[in-house]
Amino acid sequence: MKPVCVLGNGQLGRMLRQAGEPLGIAVYPIGLDAEPQALPTAQSVITAEIERWPVTALTHELAGHNAFVNRDIFPLLADRLTQKQLLDRLGLATAPWQLLSDADEWAQVFTTLGELAIVKRRTGGYDGRGQWCLRADEIAMLPADCYGECIVEQGICFSGEMSLVGARGHDGHTVFYPLTHNLHQDGILRTSVVLPDVNAEHQQQAERMLSAIMNELNYVGVMAMECFVEPEGLLINELAPRVHNSGHWTQNGASISQFELHLRAILGLPLPMPVVSTPAVMVNLIGTDVNLDWLNQPLVHLHWYEKEVRAGRKVGHLNLADVSPAALSAALNALVPMLPAEYASSIAWAVEKLGCSCLLADLKRGSAPTKPANRISFCPNIPQIFL
Ligand code: ATP
Ligand code: MG
Repeated sequence: MKPVCVLGNGQLGRMLRQAGEPLGIAVYPIGLDAEPQALPTAQSVITAEIERWPVTALTHELAGHNAFVNRDIFPLLADRLTQKQLLDRLGLATAPWQLLSDADEWAQVFTTLGELAIVKRRTGGYDGRGQWCLRADEIAMLPADCYGECIVEQGICFSGEMSLVGARGHDGHTVFYPLTHNLHQDGILRTSVVLPDVNAEHQQQAERMLSAIMNELNYVGVMAMECFVEPEGLLINELAPRVHNSGHWTQNGASISQFELHLRAILGLPLPMPVVSTPAVMVNLIGTDVNLDWLNQPLVHLHWYEKEVRAGRKVGHLNLADVSPAALSAALNALVPMLPAEYASSIAWAVEKLGCSCLLADLKRGSAPTKPANRISFCPNIPQIFL
């Protein structure tokens, strides 16, 4: 089996390496400053865990490498302008948007897009950084260097966020996981929930959209598509040409993880549809020290990235999967006192999502529906955007 070199050596590269191990695939996550001579780049397949990179000796060598899968797609998707243009060209629903070239355009922007404008840097933003949520009386808050370097989108009052993670092989064959429900707070993903009983209409719409994108680009590997849920259906928020945080639950909740799926796709190995038969939950660990007490919960899988813990930094995640939504909810509730207070609302959101699934499972078994514990009414919408 050919080795795989991964441009970037963060947690995604680390988890690709872990996924390769049982299959005998050597995966080398590479820091951007590494010396190319020290690496088996010549005989490897090349992939990336990041979307943009500066020019270094290594990236210069890899940029011209014939086995760099999707090499020319990264720049197209890393710029929100060209990414949005692609969605428009394909006629796929996305939050209405325009390029923000000049401060003169504001009056027209609010007339066209409505009272709430979401300004996003074209490149380099992540976890809600490089974004501003502005009303007409707040435009002075926007740094002057944003004009020409940002797009502006309509603020969408969505009822929820979902993502589709899928993969496409060299032969054009595509496979998908069930849609994942995601809760973002302050622009950063806190918690994901997947329920095997998906809304078929949403799933079909999402698969149609992501297939159209991957086919148009002749893409190979795992791609993630983040969406807003609206009454009329799904609106695409953004695309990620790589394994994605909202797919981390697949490590413990699917027969093939997104990391293994990506390796299989880029290496031309078989790409069967992953089987997902139980609900699963992923809780991101953000700026929180490891707590070994978590491991007292038998359903908890800890994935710790061995990074320095800093405020706002993703340093690990917890995955939980079980056939019983009630057991999953109980395990999540037991975690609450072992985590800082800011985790409580996102865990309550996950328990609420599982509650729906509890009711469904109860109805299928023919038993009286149990009222899920800790139900809250939660609308993950605009006020939570990072300012
Ligand atoms: P990441 O890379 O971590 O996925 P990001 O920084 O690239 O995030 P987005 O995904 O564009 O940024 O936005 C982060 C979050 O901000 C979204 O998941 C959503 O909660 C909110 N958001 C973004 N755009 C809009 C919008 N047009 N209307 C309402 N909310 C939005
Ligand atoms: Mg996003």
